[in-house]
This record gives sequence, structure tokens and C-alpha cells, in this order.
Amino acid sequence: MSRNFFITTMGCQMNEYDSDFLAQSLIHYGLSPVDDPKIADVILINTCTVRAKPEQKAFSQLGRMSAIKRKKPGTILGVVGCLAQQHGADLIKRFPELDLVLGPRQLCRIEEFMGRIDGNREQVVATDLEFIQYRPISCRNYFTGKVKGYVSIMEGCNNFCSYCVVPFVRGREVSRDPREVLSEAENLVLQGVKELTLLGQNVNSYQWEKAGNWNFSFLIREVAKLDGLLRLRFTTSHPKDLSDELIQCFSELSTLCPHIHLPFQAGSNSVLRRMRRGYTRERYLELIEKLRTVSPDIAITSDVMVGFPGESQDDFEMTLDLIRRVQFDALFSFKYSDRRGTFAEKMDGKVNEADKASRLSALQALQKQVTLKKNKALEGHQFKVLVEGPSKKGGQLTGRIETNKIVNFIADNKNIGNLVEVTVTQAFLNSLRGRLAVE
Ligand code: SAH
Ligand code: SF4
Repeated sequence: MSRNFFITTMGCQMNEYDSDFLAQSLIHYGLSPVDDPKIADVILINTCTVRAKPEQKAFSQLGRMSAIKRKKPGTILGVVGCLAQQHGADLIKRFPELDLVLGPRQLCRIEEFMGRIDGNREQVVATDLEFIQYRPISCRNYFTGKVKGYVSIMEGCNNFCSYCVVPFVRGREVSRDPREVLSEAENLVLQGVKELTLLGQNVNSYQWEKAGNWNFSFLIREVAKLDGLLRLRFTTSHPKDLSDELIQCFSELSTLCPHIHLPFQAGSNSVLRRMRRGYTRERYLELIEKLRTVSPDIAITSDVMVGFPGESQDDFEMTLDLIRRVQFDALFSFKYSDRRGTFAEKMDGKVNEADKASRLSALQALQKQVTLKKNKALEGHQFKVLVEGPSKKGGQLTGRIETNKIVNFIADNKNIGNLVEVTVTQAFLNSLRGRLAVE
């Protein structure tokens, strides 16, 4: 009987992409996926440490999975990703059940390490960040039946925003060979994927000079040419590197969805300076204007944090002011948390938890009003929806309109994977309800 594996995944798209890569590699190694860790022969915990919350979640998963292994000692247990990178061999001291500690740049060697663990039952710790990763496509039918897929175009980050652990745990920025990106994208489309999202911590700084002079706009134009691709998205854009050329792509490429995720982090220039973000609020607002000139209905979403060291009430008011001015479609908002080894960890003026919490709830209350108003404005209008599958509630299908808003509606399953016209009948905070316009 063949052995099987289970992988835990954190919410973000990068993490999901890495888990998909690991799953394909383990299938190639001869294992089968299962969705219950208790019956798995191999358990991998894929982790994220960008904020305190996901890091805590990763530790609690490690505790839970170690307990499973204690009951079934033959299980192979591994921790992969940012937590593995940050804590390395120390994790084995704390969790002796671990067989494998694998940093983000070492994922491509998973099959080699599985061989070593299977062969000698040795404990493997691999956290070299210098390793340039090549990710061959190892499992050709993995995406069959999926409507959406991701392609990573770069690894790591060079920006060293003062609060951020990413450059330390995922390494310096390395762009992938465009031929590798295109062949992976093509492979997904050939398996039936209709929507691709190009992924990177700062996709706008994509650069490949070894074969022609590729920048991100060039790459996106090439991916957009793929036959059978209905929709193209990308994330994340850094405001300091958002070029006019890329903004222009929104009017030029019909498959490029009118949605941009453009994290602003804070609305006060003094906070932005101490965050080392490389732009001002004025520059950010100018970019929003440019985007809306080129693509008037573009949806704009963003990340923001409250309680960065030294953030005064006035600084926070500037953040609220920016939110009112931009009118974001949606916001991901966080309380600042200290990350080990970052510049901000050592800064003075730490904001207490109570102030962080009250600022976060004021900010979220404001954004709720904006999001709801924007969604309500869609009622009665008709949109193209890419149908993803049955909705969680059942009895309905779910999909997204071009601006990435979720729509649930009643229709036959034969529509899954197609673009259909849907009229929005009712708008909520996190989703829309609709009616199929053409049967
Ligand atoms: N590369 C992306 C962000 C990746 S991290 C960018 O530059 O925009 C995702 C989000 O987590 C960030 O945008 C930020 O809002 C939040 N974040 C990162 N570090 C944080 C910290 N120390 N405390 C709180 N939020 C943080
Ligand atoms: Fe972190 Fe800044 Fe890089 Fe984003 S751009 S990953 S926030 S260092």
C-alpha cells in the first residue's frame, strides 16, 4: 500500500503556492495526499512568521502534529517555510519529534531530503538562503479540475521595510527565469486553469537581464498571450516601484483584471519614513489617481498597520484620512507586532496593546462603511463571473467578478470554469449575491 502525506497551509497565496509545490513533489516521490493528519505517514507544517499571529498558529500546529506523532512514532514530521528558517535546529530541541526543518529556499530539495530520512532515519535541517532555487514541474496533472492557479515569479525581498522579517526568512530578491515562469504558466493553462496570479513580494521590481531585458510589464504581456487564459492577476505591488508602463497594462491587456493590491501601510509621512517604505502619502495618492485615470473602475485593495513604534494619534488620523480619500474596495489591517531581528524591534515609542486595539477597531469600522457602500453600488449591474465551484453554503455556485469580489448565485455545475454573465441582486460586506443573466 502506498504511503500518504498531509500538508498544513497558512492563509497567504505565497504559502499556498509553496504547499502546492511540496504536494506535487511528494506525489512525484510516490506518496498520495490525504486530508487527515492522523492517517498520514508524512506530515509537513508549512509556516508563515510575517506577523505574531501566524507564528503563534504555526507553533500550535507544531504542538498538535507532534502529539499525533507521539501516538504513531513511524510518522515523518517536518516543518517548512519561514518558521523553519527563523528557528532552524532550535526547533528540533523544542520538538524532538521533528525529522525535517526546511527553509523556504530549500523546498525544491524535498525529494532528496525525503530519500535521506527514509534511508537513514536522519534528522535534516536545511536553511541555506544562498541556494538559488530551480523548481521543475514535477507532477503534470496536479491542477486538473482547478480554475485558479498561482505562479511565483520571484523569491525573497530586498526592501528591508523596518518592521518586516521577510528579507531575513525568505532571503534576498531573486527573479525567476522568464522561460521557467512562462512554461509553468502554460502548463497550468494546459491542465485547464483559467485564471493565473503572478506572485512575488514586490512583483514590480521583477528583472531578468540574462536573456533579453525583462521587466515585470514585459513579463505580464507575454503571460497574457497564453491561449486559453481567461484572467490574469498579480500580487503584491510595491508603491515605490509601480511604473507608468505597468499602469498602462491595465488598459492594454484585456485579460488583466482591473484590480490592484497596493499596500500603503500608513498614512503619515513620518511613519512611512521610519517604516523605510520609500514613498510619501502624496506619491501614493498620485499613483491612485494615475491608476483610476487609466482604468476608471479599477478595484484597489491594500494592507495597513496600526501602532507602528512612535505612531501618534495624529499619525493615526492621517491613516484614516488616507482611507477616506482613496476609498479602498477592501483592506487587510493589522496591529504592528515586533518581529525578531528587524529594525523596528529596536525602535523606541512602542504603542501599547490597548491603543493598538482601539485604533484597529476604529479603522476597521471606517473601512466597513466604505466597502459596503462600494459593494452596494454594484447592485443591479451585470458582470462577467469566472465560476470557481460550489459555494460553501451549498445549493449555489461561487465565482468572482473581474475586480475580485465574490458572487454567489444559483446555476448548473456545468458552468464551473466558464465566464458567465451575472446580475448583482444584493451586496454584503464580504460577498455579493447574484442572478445568472443568460441561461
Ligand atoms: N510584500 C508585501 C507584504 C508582505 S507581508 C508588501 O510589501 O506589501 C503582508 C503584510 O503583513 C504587510 O503588507 C504588512 O501590512 C503586514 N506586516 C508585515 N510585517 C508586520 C509586522 N511586523 N506587524 C504587523 N503587520 C505586519
Ligand atoms: Fe516586507 Fe517590505 Fe519586502 Fe514587503 S516590501 S516583503 S513589507 S520588506
